[in-house]
Amino acid sequence: MPSLIQQLGGYGVACGIAIGRAHLLAPSEFEIPKYHIAPDAVLHEVARLNNAFSLVRAEIKELRADVAETAPAEVGAFLDLHRMILDDSLLCDAPRDLVRTRHINAEWALTIQLEEVCRQFEAIDDEYFRSRSQDVRQVVERVLRRLAGERSARVPLPKHADTGEATILVAHDLSPADVLHFREHSGVAFAGFLTEIGGPTSHTTILARSLGIPAVVGIAGVRERVGEGDRLIVDSDSGRVYLRPDADILAESRRQIRATTQQRAGLRKLRGRVAQTRDGVPVELLANIELPGDARDALEAGADGIGLFRTEFLFMNRDDLPSEDEQYESYAKVARTMKGKPVVIRTLDVGADKVLNPGAHAGSSGTRDGDGSGPQPNPALGLRAIRYCLAYPDLFLTQLRAILRASEHGTVRLLVPMLAHLHEIEQAIAFVIRAQEQLTERRQKFDAGIEIGGMIEVPGAALNLGPFVRRLKFLSLGTNDLIQYTLAIDRTDSSVAYLYEPLHPAVLQLIHHTIRGGEKAGLPVSVCGEMAGDGTASELLLGMGLRRFSMSPAQILPIKQRIFDLDTKAAARLAARVARMHDPMEIRSALQRADRAARRGDK
Ligand code: PEP
Ligand code: MG
Repeated sequence: MPSLIQQLGGYGVACGIAIGRAHLLAPSEFEIPKYHIAPDAVLHEVARLNNAFSLVRAEIKELRADVAETAPAEVGAFLDLHRMILDDSLLCDAPRDLVRTRHINAEWALTIQLEEVCRQFEAIDDEYFRSRSQDVRQVVERVLRRLAGERSARVPLPKHADTGEATILVAHDLSPADVLHFREHSGVAFAGFLTEIGGPTSHTTILARSLGIPAVVGIAGVRERVGEGDRLIVDSDSGRVYLRPDADILAESRRQIRATTQQRAGLRKLRGRVAQTRDGVPVELLANIELPGDARDALEAGADGIGLFRTEFLFMNRDDLPSEDEQYESYAKVARTMKGKPVVIRTLDVGADKVLNPGAHAGSSGTRDGDGSGPQPNPALGLRAIRYCLAYPDLFLTQLRAILRASEHGTVRLLVPMLAHLHEIEQAIAFVIRAQEQLTERRQKFDAGIEIGGMIEVPGAALNLGPFVRRLKFLSLGTNDLIQYTLAIDRTDSSVAYLYEPLHPAVLQLIHHTIRGGEKAGLPVSVCGEMAGDGTASELLLGMGLRRFSMSPAQILPIKQRIFDLDTKAAARLAARVARMHDPMEIRSALQRADRAARRGDK
């Protein structure tokens, strides 16, 4: 029986399986000497600091120059970020002052500043920025290594010459620069890595995914359980790591690696093909994006358009609101990038877990109770999305004008989130008309025929589709929130995450009802929640009549492949069978059986 390290709060980066021998890296928190220096040693100590910073600066510059042109853009961006951190006066000037005023050694001064900077990062109420403190620690660690006299902050890799096998690094933490170095300069096959810390938004994780390096991060205590040279299988899709696997597991993993390699090569060929089922029914595969630059990834993945542009990310992590012109530039950029393919721009969905900085809040002068600027008792049920926009007409009109102006540059559609009431739909439409009038007064162009759609993500909306289908031109099922609100579980609360069940019969009934309602009224319906990119649910959604799926760009080709295997009549029979089931486990088994049958080509 192989020993299985089930990750404890760990996270697989979801890019395949790696097999190799473990190489343990020394803990990054090495002993830091701390002592007072004589006043006449200050100049020397400051010179040590300056020298260490210069060496690390040169090292990062060299790495940056080595980045291949074909490498993903993130690779250079990580190194630029580390260079910026290194040049920040809080890190490079303040420790010098500490050496001068407190007469302490360079390492001590640097670590005092490190803790100060990290405290500032960790106080930021945003997971992405909080996790940047990790980048600061990685940069300071490089400088500390130089101060400790290491010729290079790079750790050499052993050659498992006797076995000829690749190396899997096991570390407390790895910086993006380390990952890059091991991949490009170590001279040995670097197959993957495991770390004790890290999470879904750490830069190292993002980089590993974009470089296709299998890794599992956040496995507490992994360095104590793995020995140097141990054979490991890193399954970054399931987040599991097999330590000293037996011959059967090894053979199975090798088979899976071969299958994945073949599958990826095959998928690239699908980019230019229109997705259609085996019985010839076309299916639209659209992309969800968060920032204008993501539109390029969507195009690369062969998306039929943008099914959901989550505009709130333009409003976050800043102390002001984006102006109409700034928003217009962003929306127009996406419209132009997509070259006439449809672009669905969702109006601001702020609130719940997507909070604005207090200064950027529309109501920051003269706030109302529960307006999103302070903690709300129940934020997911509070002043969120369209409710927020209707409460702040100027903010809403500014965004609508920007979207309307961008409609000149492509096929833009407008999507309104979290609608539940007839009067909300009517008010949203009235605001669009008002914004159009304002642009006409200003003699600015826009697409007068722009389509307005509504998100169905509140159960009350799904059960009362009449006002939606009469007044809107398309519907988009936000299954992430629909599940949250149907099953009464906070999407962000890990203690109830086990209750988040997309295959709960109540959720499926609401989805099916909405698809049928749209069909009857001749209104296109899409799914833009995570379910659309989950291959397990594809046949069921197709069987319910769904023909538009919107997902993250990376999921488009695997789902396209899935669609080619499916048959709409078989899918409809599956949906009818599932409609009679009451247990999500039973439903999941039925979907898995149907999946196997579809892959075999059964009708
Ligand atoms: C959803 O709720 O399914 C959705 C797509 O919107 P978001 O995840 O942005 O809330
Ligand atoms: Mg939503």
